[in-house]
Amino acid sequence: MIPRGGSGGAGPRRRLGAWGFEGETYLPSPQMLAWLQRRIGASSPYPTLDLARLAAPTPQPLPSLPVEQSADALDRLTHARGQGLTDLLRLRGGAVPALPDAVVRPQSAAEVESILRGCAAAGVRVIPWGGGTSVTGGVNVIPGAAPVVSLDLAALTGLQSLDETSQLAVFGAGTSGPAIEAALRERGCTLGHFPQSWELSTLGGWVATRASGQESLGYGDMHHMAAGLELVAPNGRMDLPAFPSSAAGPDLRHLVLGSEGRLGVITRVTVRIRPLPPLVRAAATLLPSWQDGLDAVRALVQQAVPLTLIRLSDEPETETAMAIGLSRHPWVAGLVRGGLRLRGIRGSGCLMLCGAAGDERQVREALERTTAVLRAHGGVGLGTGPGRRWLAERFRHPYLRDALLDRGIATDTLETAAPWSRVPQLADDVRRALSSALAGENEATAVLCHVSHPYRDGASLYFTFFFRCPTDVERAVARWATLKRTATAAIVAGGGTLSHHHGVGSWHAPWFKEEVGEVGVRVLSAAARTLDPTGILNPHVLLDPIDRLEV
Ligand SMILES: Cc1cc2nc3c(=O)[nH]c(=O)nc-3n(C[C@H](O)[C@H](O)[C@H](O)COP(=O)(O)OP(=O)(O)OC[C@H]3O[C@@H](n4cnc5c(N)ncnc54)[C@H](O)[C@@H]3O)c2cc1C
Repeated sequence: MIPRGGSGGAGPRRRLGAWGFEGETYLPSPQMLAWLQRRIGASSPYPTLDLARLAAPTPQPLPSLPVEQSADALDRLTHARGQGLTDLLRLRGGAVPALPDAVVRPQSAAEVESILRGCAAAGVRVIPWGGGTSVTGGVNVIPGAAPVVSLDLAALTGLQSLDETSQLAVFGAGTSGPAIEAALRERGCTLGHFPQSWELSTLGGWVATRASGQESLGYGDMHHMAAGLELVAPNGRMDLPAFPSSAAGPDLRHLVLGSEGRLGVITRVTVRIRPLPPLVRAAATLLPSWQDGLDAVRALVQQAVPLTLIRLSDEPETETAMAIGLSRHPWVAGLVRGGLRLRGIRGSGCLMLCGAAGDERQVREALERTTAVLRAHGGVGLGTGPGRRWLAERFRHPYLRDALLDRGIATDTLETAAPWSRVPQLADDVRRALSSALAGENEATAVLCHVSHPYRDGASLYFTFFFRCPTDVERAVARWATLKRTATAAIVAGGGTLSHHHGVGSWHAPWFKEEVGEVGVRVLSAAARTLDPTGILNPHVLLDPIDRLEV
């Protein structure tokens, strides 16, 4: 049994088996619950976390390491899983198949090196742990014979140096989103990387997964921001300095970006930073249809309108946005619908948020140019109120998932990216796959989609799906696995990438070869063997897949 209590520490306590911090919540509105019930039917509450139901097997003996090894049951349990839906289902359902045998927290890159050497010599698996927000099974302990250490980077944190002239900052890899922004804001700067998991995820995790923030249009993705880094592997260290650009052979930073803990532990990252903009403002517009919205997004990006954020929701997502929070007052949604009908728009239309950052004049000019483009595509402006609310609440939205599960509604997300010419068909294919995946069980799925990371040549598609969650953990996980397999097959068949920003992890690994080819896998495996000859680092993530969505 897991003892009550926790590993302590300052600040708000993280919740186990749920998103975020103790005391925080984000409840679905009655309108949203009614909308979901109409689509998927009534459901019974899923079990809540009960520590007494979670068994912690006796840890296997480990070699002596240069740092303290925590064998505390709650600490091990906290590091057993990430934040994917099945991780929460398993924790709440009291059925976690494996725990790390210990958690270690190195204080320096030298300690990381000694831990890796010690573990390699003893055949101990090592899972690098940043914020544990992986939604692809990237930090999950897979049952197996070899012992497992979770290597938590929480102590490798903080701003190490700042080159204001070059706008470069060096941080420890374990630094979280809020800590990075706090350190930079004191100096009038920002990184501008705001994934929805910003409050809990870390710089090392962002690099390891090639993460993308909600303002990627203005600030770029993590692979644009990471200028240099240090990787510590069982077989040595790679220190890749920051250059504005370099023709000195293939860019090895890009071998580390997206390596998901398979090649080594990222201990330090140099990031490109920007002056903190005095103003960030987002305006909302309703487009007559999804296709009008896609055309408008493409026009904005290809005309290089200087926005930092574009987010286009399809009709179902627009309806839920209205139901959750575009307004908590149904009469406002009614008023909007009346206005749309007057302009000949049937249904909800498609909500689009466009954000700009800078001084008052820069923001005004960017939003004026945006309005002109959107009007040409039939857009109806809703002002800046919805955007203000979205910016204020964006990091609270993940709490909604737990509140829905309390009511027996499971929700998960998946994402991809493709060239513009394939985006509409791919969106339809994945929607259809998700909507019909549970037909054999006579179950319905509600599916929402948005575009939130547009580029000149294409865009990411982000799907949110809801289904009735069986109260039995294994049946719930199996239902999710059916949806995940069906949707991933549709993504691959439709010419989308396996992931735009969540990464491959262990759950997408079975499809990785289809994306990069046999030779691509051999090249990456050779790099892994060079850096980690005994294969102790995060086995089965990215490479050497085992089909284990249900684990
Ligand atoms: C609610 C929610 C919202 C999310 N929103 C976004 C989003 O907007 N954009 C986005 O890109 N992702 C998002 N994610 C996914 C997740 O937050 C990202 O993948 C994030 O980059 C993971 O960071 P982390 O520090 O939590 O890494 P972890 O989850 O701890 O690890 C992720 C992977 O990286 C490896 N790793 C971690 N740190 C290191 C290191 N220092 N060295 C080597 N390997 C390491 C791990 O072994 C694992 O394979 C979201 C997840 C959730 C649950």
